Amino acid sequence: MDEDDFWGNDEGKCQACDEYGPVDDLSLCDECAGNLDRDLIRQHDWEYSASSLGLSNELREQLRNEVIKRFSKELELIAPSKKKKNVVNRNVNGRRNNRFMWINDY
Ligand SMILES: [Zn+2]
Repeated sequence: MDEDDFWGNDEGKCQACDEYGPVDDLSLCDECAGNLDRDLIRQHDWEYSASSLGLSNELREQLRNEVIKRFSKELELIAPSKKKKNVVNRNVNGRRNNRFMWINDY
């Protein structure tokens, strides 16, 4: 196994949709990370958005318009939502403990 591939590709439970699989450092799966990224863009939260990293303000606005056009203006993950989802928090500590528990947790 290539260590470089392994590193940074944690398996775990996505804290937004509760799916198990590879998660990022916020414990979000690919899909939810994408949702979050678009939400951040919608809210002009450029500092936290991976997609807008290093872009000029002008390009960021273009990116935002693109997101709104292709998806919608509504927030997807950071929701004042109808359906209660786990809110994204940055508590990374709790996560190590249950990292492999799911294997026997049926
Ligand atoms: Zn997810």
